[in-house]
This record gives sequence, structure tokens and C-alpha cells, in this order.
Amino acid sequence: MIRLHDKYFKPFLSEKQILGAIQRMAQEIAVDYKDDTPIFVGVLNGAFMFVSDFLKEYPYSCEVSFVKLSSYQGLTSTGIVETLLDVPDNIEGRSIIILEDIIDTGRTLQKLVHLFSNTKVKEFKIASLFYKAEVYNGEYAIDYVGLEIPDKFIVGYGLDYKELGRNLREVYQLNQKYMINLVLFGKPGAGKGTQAQFLKEKYNLKHISTGDVFRYNIKNGTELGTLAKSYIDKGELVPDEVTIKMLEDEVDKNPDADGFIFDGFPRTTAQAEALDNFLESKDMKVDATIALEANDDILIERLLERGKNSGRSDDQDVSKIRNRFEEYNSKTAPLKDYYEEQHKFHSVNGIGSIDEITQRLTKVIDSL
Ligand code: AMP
Repeated sequence: MIRLHDKYFKPFLSEKQILGAIQRMAQEIAVDYKDDTPIFVGVLNGAFMFVSDFLKEYPYSCEVSFVKLSSYQGLTSTGIVETLLDVPDNIEGRSIIILEDIIDTGRTLQKLVHLFSNTKVKEFKIASLFYKAEVYNGEYAIDYVGLEIPDKFIVGYGLDYKELGRNLREVYQLNQKYMINLVLFGKPGAGKGTQAQFLKEKYNLKHISTGDVFRYNIKNGTELGTLAKSYIDKGELVPDEVTIKMLEDEVDKNPDADGFIFDGFPRTTAQAEALDNFLESKDMKVDATIALEANDDILIERLLERGKNSGRSDDQDVSKIRNRFEEYNSKTAPLKDYYEEQHKFHSVNGIGSIDEITQRLTKVIDSL
């Protein structure tokens, strides 16, 4: 994985794969232009490496020239294609073969064809090292293709992300999201919320506590709050469909997050499965589930203490607390197996100072 500006990119094509494709293209074109002296026109800036390696492989008489256009600004094509370096002189009656580094939507190509439209050349052909067939508008035939690639943003081998990455010998693909998504697991009072406060700062994550979201809704008298209150007051779990929908909304509210800490979610197998499916649909995943372990006596002591200050009714009554433990034992504890099967389960001793526990969690996260 490499980083350019604010984005991460993962290896996609090796130097060998790229040079192999170029060799094939050069041989193909050589067969067609053996008896001619074509002018290869490289499209700057991206094609400079391609042009160089291509010419080394081209065995017959040829000339080389360049045009310069600009269209990409960052990750998405702006659609504005400017001519910064115009067509070469004296090309009338000559065979022109455009050497493009990449063709995606075809907008740059349209401008290129336009550039050469009144030049009375003998032949006008297009060769592109990379070709995104999925998004190409199909307006012009592409005569020679090196490698067909999926519609993912790439850098390296002449291609840039905001001008960086052109010097890489290989091609890298944008890693859609380089995220850390953590599930904090543990009984009520285990310290999930407290630790989440530290971890979210350290790793720049968005903390979602389903309990907090419910309490916020109760405080503001929303429909969701009214619905959840009856369950929460008894120390029971709020029904899955309500909680899952709410969680998904919270994630969707933060499209730019570097990752999430899920605190108090999932609490049932149905929630865990829903979370996996939901994240997968967004090209995301749970990276680790970390359980904070402490025994019931300590937890009851902590919760009653918290209840004195927080005013949380579910923290002030031992029978409600015990009911929450029972809910945990019957519905949430089985998730340990669910995440162990995925090799994502980590257990951390939740007894000690806040700082000690943060360090234990950090050690697990840094090893991911
Ligand atoms: P917490 O603050 O995490 O202890 O949550 C307080 C209460 O909110 C719980 O006892 C449940 O009634 C409800 N709750 C929080 N998260 C969930 C969840 N994932 N599924 C169902 N109910 C939840």
C-alpha cells in the first residue's frame, strides 16, 4: 500500500505485466506499419513512460511527437479538456498513431480526434496502453489496446493523482477506503464508551454508540426515542430491525470517516450479519472485534456508580442491570463464536486503569 496526498493505493499491475503488454502492442503495430514511417504522437503528461518504452520495442522506422491535453483534476474527470501543446507540423499525408496512456470515458479522445480532424493525414489510429471498456462511450474505434482494466482510479507508470505517482514503475489502484472498523464488545459497564473516546482520537475514527443514539432520541422525544424507551427502561434489547436501520443511517451520515468504532452494536447474531452485509455493500468490513472482559461484581459496582451521576435509570437498579447481563449472555455472547470463525475476535482484560486498558487495546489495533 502506498499513500499519495490523502489517498491510499494498492499494487495493481507489475512492471513486467505492463512491459509485456507494451511489447505485444509494438509487435502488432509493427506488422501493420512495417513499410511505412508512422508518427507516434504521445499524449502528455501521462503517456511519457509508455511512449518511451513503446519506442524501445518498436523495431522499424518511425518518428515521435507529442500533444498535451488536460482533463483529470484529482480523482474525477472534470470534462474540461484543454489543449496545452498542439498537433505537430508537416503531418499531411502521414500515418498518425496516437499513443494514449489510458482511455476511460473517451472525452479526451474526442478532443484528440477533433484536433487532427482537419490535418489531411493519411491515416489516424489510436493505441491505448490501458482501456476501461466498462465506461468508454464507444464513439471511436480503439485500434490497439494494451490492457483492459476495470473502472478504478489508477496511478503510476506516468499516471498521477494530483501530480504525484507518475514516477512509479508499477500501476496502483485506489484503495476505495483504507479504514479501520472496530467493534467494541463487552457487557454493560465494561468501559466500551470510555475507551472509544480515546481510540477515536488516536485513530481518527467515528464513534457510534447505539445506546447514545437511543438516549439522544429519547431526550429529543423523537418517534424512534419513544419506541426504544420502553425496552431500554426494562433493560431489554430494542428490536433488531429498529436498531439495524438506525445504525445504517449513522454510518451513512459519515461518508468521509476513516473508519468506525461500533460500540454496543452488534448485540445479536442478526445484527452482526446485517452489519457484515451492509459494510460489504459499501466495500468495507469489520477489521476486529475487541472484547473488554471484566467480572459481573466489578461491572455492577461500576454501573451503580455511573448511575449516580449519569441519571441513567437502567444503571440505578440492580435487577435491571442483571437483566442486561442476561440479555448479553443469551443474545450477545454467542457473537464471540461468530467473530472467532472470521478470525477477528480479540479479548482484552478490562480491569485496570483507563490508561492501561487503552494501551492494551492500542496494542491489538496496531497489530491488525
Ligand atoms: P448501552 O448504552 O450500550 O448500554 O445501551 C443501552 C440500551 O440501549 C440497551 O440496554 C438496549 O436497550 C439499547 N440498545 C443499545 N444498543 C442496542 C443494540 N445494538 N440492540 C438492541 N438494543 C440496543
